[in-house]
Amino acid sequence: MKRIDILTLFPEMCGAAFKESIVARGIKAGLLEIDCHQIRDYTEDRQGKVDDYPYGGGPGLVMSYQPVKSAYDAVLAAHQAEDGRKPYTIYMSPQGTKFTQNVAKRLALQDRLIIICGHYEGMDERVIEDIVDEEISLGDFVLTGGEIPAMAVADCIARLVPGVLASSEAYENESHSDILLEYAQYTRPEVIAGRRVPEVLLRGNHAEIETWRKQNAEARTMDKRPDLYRAYEQRERLRSTYYFDNSATTRQWDCVTKRMEEVADRFFGNPSSLHRLGFEAEKELTAVRKELAALIGAESSGNIYFTSGATEANNWVFRGILPANPRAGRHIIISAVEHPSVYLAAESLKDFGYEVDVAPVDADGRVNIERFTALLRPDDTALVSIMHVNSETGAIQPLDAIVHAVRAVRPEALIHSDCVQSFGKLPVNVSKLGLDLISVSAHKLHGPRGTGFLYASDRVKLKPLLYGGGQENGLRSGTENLPAICGFGTAAAQICGGITDNFEAARANRQIFIDAIRNGLRTYVFNTPFEPGTDPELSSPYILNVAFPGLRAEVILHTLEKYGVYVSVGSACSSHKKDRSRVLTAMGLDNKVIDGAIRISLSPDNTREQCEYAAAVLVREVKQLYALHRRTKTRKTGA
Ligand code: SAM
Repeated sequence: MKRIDILTLFPEMCGAAFKESIVARGIKAGLLEIDCHQIRDYTEDRQGKVDDYPYGGGPGLVMSYQPVKSAYDAVLAAHQAEDGRKPYTIYMSPQGTKFTQNVAKRLALQDRLIIICGHYEGMDERVIEDIVDEEISLGDFVLTGGEIPAMAVADCIARLVPGVLASSEAYENESHSDILLEYAQYTRPEVIAGRRVPEVLLRGNHAEIETWRKQNAEARTMDKRPDLYRAYEQRERLRSTYYFDNSATTRQWDCVTKRMEEVADRFFGNPSSLHRLGFEAEKELTAVRKELAALIGAESSGNIYFTSGATEANNWVFRGILPANPRAGRHIIISAVEHPSVYLAAESLKDFGYEVDVAPVDADGRVNIERFTALLRPDDTALVSIMHVNSETGAIQPLDAIVHAVRAVRPEALIHSDCVQSFGKLPVNVSKLGLDLISVSAHKLHGPRGTGFLYASDRVKLKPLLYGGGQENGLRSGTENLPAICGFGTAAAQICGGITDNFEAARANRQIFIDAIRNGLRTYVFNTPFEPGTDPELSSPYILNVAFPGLRAEVILHTLEKYGVYVSVGSACSSHKKDRSRVLTAMGLDNKVIDGAIRISLSPDNTREQCEYAAAVLVREVKQLYALHRRTKTRKTGA
């Protein structure tokens, strides 16, 4: 049973609300108990006073500590005599949490509640400090006392006590129980002044009535409460969207958007300005820089340079930093599976007398260490750039072995790694890995687009790529995009905080796709290296590249899209181009495998249910496409 005790100066007024109708019937049936207690009965003042003048002056009177505390203690003693537990205590106040149906649902979970009503100018603050668990407001307006709010709160909670309403459906479908407002209701007579009850409600077809009610609820919400309708629309969109293209970009988390809005609003000063607003903005910038430096195990926050993203960071390494170290050598090694912002930037240096060697990969998409080592030049290699996780296949490059080989043959060479697909997903610790430079982008980890950073170790001699106002220690000019950088910090802290759990969840979720494909299809090729249970280091569990030889990846992509499942063909940056994937080609794959390859890329947002749905759709549709493919082939050959 639920019990609510209301402490008030006007118990008759409060009590009256519960003497009628539904709540009164609930009380009579023994489903709940509501007791109103007169605070004045507990005053120790001879004249029965319960209030006094406020210290410091000002209008009105303030309710005194003693009578309220004594009334509370008396009610508490009765409760504790029963079961020794302290009831949850709320104070009705215009300064509290706004009361909503969700707050009511939360409070309804409490077995016992004490509600305290203020009056006059309010109550001695120490009452609130000593006994109140939560302040609750009825809305942004001020009433003369807490009685009306207390009645509203108690009434709303009472309706949620099982059995008080004839059927729980009555409140489950109501306005504010979910997001939409309730549909329009009608009762007899059928026609009033020429206005008829909607025909569909008279026909008795329940499915049609349900559809009408949903549409009516949507239309009314859109009309009366556009704010609620926007929230509803967004939720529905997300519910029917099965997004598995997270290596291309991720949905910006709400906490990130909130942080960005807050920063744009509060810290609008230019971090380079000398006044207080500039100083405050710079403080925020420094805090994020420190946080990111700690997350990658950098020597100090001074090694982090904010950029517009990883593409700029990668270009900076080749076009800005390398020429700053002319005596380091003229030889560069990249892998055959790098992002275009690495391989095209490297290529461009050929015009300036640099030699670029491309380290080949094995069939699993990972750099062949022996062949890589053979490319190192003891007197000339200036830079080695090998990505951490491949964006198309998820293959994890053997960075430990690469760094070891470089340090053994040519210790002076700088080692750069594009960590766009690994930061926030796998541990990235530049000190442990022994890297000199890494590039990171925020939008791959639920942060905003258009921001990222370059980490450069103390031993790297830096020169700017962009000249101008001298931001970022004179090395990357351009006013810092503070809201985006702070949003990046929020996303990075959140994703790195859950890195181990997220990793395990991604592994289990990827396995759902692997199992569904293995069990449901005969023709497929996995281009992602994984050996479940043996070597978890081969690939990132966030990526699965699978080919359906004979089918075209674009056709699969658009077929899945019809069912709300979004995957990609190769990597998003190059997928609009006609050329075959460089990565899959470098792995020596057959053209039929390359042309039929899709990439499923996950994020911590993907649930098991989403993966099960998407995997089932994928298997079903690929089966049908193969059946169609066979029929077309048979017709063509006339067999
Ligand atoms: N001086 C107080 C202030 O500015 O916050 C307002 C005091 S109000 C006149 C007196 C009492 O009415 C409050 O202590 C509170 O218990 C109750 N009250 C007034 N407006 C309320 C609201 N919107 N929600 C909940 N309680 C309210």
